[in-house]
Amino acid sequence: MINNSLLQRIEFGFTRTACSCDEDVLNCYFVPGYLIPDDLSRLADHLSVENIFDLARDYLLASPGPIVGLNTGETFRIPTLVPARRKEGGCRFLDHNDRCSIHAVAPFACAFADVHLLGEEVDRRSASGLRAIMLDHRTNGIYSQCWMYLFQRQQLAPDVVQQRMLMQPALTLIKSGLPLAVVKTTKAWSLGRILGANQSDQ
Ligand code: SF4
Repeated sequence: MINNSLLQRIEFGFTRTACSCDEDVLNCYFVPGYLIPDDLSRLADHLSVENIFDLARDYLLASPGPIVGLNTGETFRIPTLVPARRKEGGCRFLDHNDRCSIHAVAPFACAFADVHLLGEEVDRRSASGLRAIMLDHRTNGIYSQCWMYLFQRQQLAPDVVQQRMLMQPALTLIKSGLPLAVVKTTKAWSLGRILGANQSDQ
């Protein structure tokens, strides 16, 4: 049974969103959303996994994370935990009807951003999530330990920057009005999926 309070989640003062349009589902295939530290125990409870490292090993990957810019012009990455991938590509939590099987406890970047939000709002939300992750890394928290654990096991996610580039041809088709089911039959889709798979779909 789904806990209603999870469907009305609030993180950092933001309310969750819920959308399963084709453009949002496309992200589930190419760039599954990152978790914040609080997502770990929530997801473990939902999946009845007692040990957080077991959760990481069986369900997550270590991602190099997004590139963040400073006022000085310098850039750096914030390592993130993201859902593992299915063998056939896409988030391991995406079911065969293209629905999220963990909707109630979906990672922060899935549950608090969708393609219909304005860019500034997405940036504000993302900044809050990434701040929480950075704080965990600075204090060697459980999130940071899980990331290092997966990194040492070479359970690595594809580079999100490259995945976004691979997604572009399919995204263009969807924005032109083609349904996802049709886009999946196109060369743009198979090329992006093949290149993505060669990178690291496991
Ligand atoms: S966790 Fe759910 S919403 Fe997030 S990428 Fe996976 S299937 Fe999509």
